[in-house]
Amino acid sequence: MRFTRYLVPTLREDPSDAVVMSHRLMLRAGLIRKESAGMYLYLPLGFRALHKITEIVREEMERAGALEFLMPELTSAELWKESGRWEAMGKEMIRIKDRNGLEYALAPTHEEAFTAAVRSIVSSYRDLPLNAYQINTKFRDEIRPRYGVMRSKEFIMKDAYSFDMDEEGLERSYQAMRTAYRNIFSRCGIETIPVEADTGAMGGSNSEEFMVASEVGEEVLLLCAACGYKANQERAEYRRPQAAHVEKMEELHAVDTPNVKTIDELAVFFDRGADEFLKSIVYLADGRPVMAVVPGDREINEVKLKNALGALEVELAPDSVVEEVTSAPVGFAGPIAKKPVRTVFDLSVRAKHNAITGANEKDRHYAGVNPGRDFALNEEADITSAIKSDECPKCGAALDERKGIEVGHIFKLGYKYTKSMNLTVLDENGRAVHPIMGCYGIGVNRTMAAVIEQHNDGRGIVWPMTVAPVQVHLVGIAKSDDEIAAVDEIYDMIMNAGIEVLFDDRKASPGVKFADADLIGMPIRVTVGKSFFKDDEIEVKLRRESEVVRVAKNAFIRHIRGLIEEEWGRLS
Ligand code: ATP
Ligand code: MG
Repeated sequence: MRFTRYLVPTLREDPSDAVVMSHRLMLRAGLIRKESAGMYLYLPLGFRALHKITEIVREEMERAGALEFLMPELTSAELWKESGRWEAMGKEMIRIKDRNGLEYALAPTHEEAFTAAVRSIVSSYRDLPLNAYQINTKFRDEIRPRYGVMRSKEFIMKDAYSFDMDEEGLERSYQAMRTAYRNIFSRCGIETIPVEADTGAMGGSNSEEFMVASEVGEEVLLLCAACGYKANQERAEYRRPQAAHVEKMEELHAVDTPNVKTIDELAVFFDRGADEFLKSIVYLADGRPVMAVVPGDREINEVKLKNALGALEVELAPDSVVEEVTSAPVGFAGPIAKKPVRTVFDLSVRAKHNAITGANEKDRHYAGVNPGRDFALNEEADITSAIKSDECPKCGAALDERKGIEVGHIFKLGYKYTKSMNLTVLDENGRAVHPIMGCYGIGVNRTMAAVIEQHNDGRGIVWPMTVAPVQVHLVGIAKSDDEIAAVDEIYDMIMNAGIEVLFDDRKASPGVKFADADLIGMPIRVTVGKSFFKDDEIEVKLRRESEVVRVAKNAFIRHIRGLIEEEWGRLS
């Protein structure tokens, strides 16, 4: 590939709308271009890197025994209605109609499509276990597409779906995928942390996400260095502190609190810590009002709340609903209710004594509030987020907090789709039974961005050998026709050796060429210039190191081959 015949539109300046490193570098190195909000096109170099990742994914899936399919991306509404997700998928799913008015979704995921496919093909226990996968485009109308290809509206996912006769089978399929995922990410050169995850709209019981630790990650991870517990904050549990000993339970009494509403204002007004208040927030869970009560210093975790309520969706109630439920303006809600409303208490509420809550009356709070005495703890659940320094649910040590990018997700789905869509096979006794499912996704584009997040320096990308668009970046610094011919010969030598090479044959200054080589970041840089024309020495440099090695022409291909092999070896 000659630079002059290729298309590598590198940019000197950081694009103004790119805030994370990988997004900036992908644009600057000429790998992608923005088509419109949340949509990107891949230029030839970018597409090569994407291919490399795809190939690693494919190899590891095949090694794990999964079978590659290619599914339609238009999925009939009928399928989604069978599983009950036509509604549940909400606004993230892009829906369209054909000329006859038939409805489709541009698939955001393919559980339904694969379940239906397997239902029509497989009929006996002899056909199982089966793990079917594809590498295909997904469409999601994300509320906030951002960070370039990390969160886009259209992206490539490897999605796999396993079908087994029983839970032991599912466990084997799940572990095989877990191993495949570890291999995939380590071969791509990225370190991942598998964490316990929420199972969300997919349903099911058991799930882990593969996270890349990064300051720009949108996920919060809670990690225990002592016992190895790792979980996404959406899911992470924590031990609640024991009840502090109190000398005396105060009487419940009302206190006038004119215009004092927020926890911060209340803390100043009462001169008490935020943890001594009980904050009561009114939500709509699938349209019905619910009150959630948590300590004043804690954040409600809406994923946990949704799961605790068994709701499809929870959202903060509008002021009008809060006023209706509490008979008071917003800011004075409390669990000592005048009107009955479903109320969920965080597990930590039980241990609070002599607390302060809203009195469901304008400008008034209750102090001396004691759970159990002043209100019944009818419904208790884990509805607050674990944070740094909370106690590990497994061992009690202090949890640590980090941010992460989710690159992969594996779930034990259970029977949700095989039952709702009535997929059965005949077992050994000729009885029709529902197989049990797992599903496993990797964001291919997001993985590419994560590779760049983990492999860059002040000058540009530092591609790991396994996923680099090409292996060698050849910089020619030649003036005379003889010199140009000599560089061309080296280029031919590299190509003929079956090594992927991008040849910067432009008439540009060495400074410009080296800057571009660093920005694009191919793992090996080869320079043919003065020292070659004078002393027959070719300069070889690894992008990730600063040392330049000079090699004679006759030893040069062997040297490069050795480097490629070594770099591959580091990653497998
Ligand atoms: P997120 O929480 O980041 O929205 P998700 O839980 O919706 O992810 P899954 O449905 O588990 O994601 O999809 C599997 C994988 O697809 C994710 O691990 C991620 O790598 C990738 N992915 C999901 N949404 C996007 C997106 N909008 N853009 C790029 N990749 C995505
Ligand atoms: Mg999502």
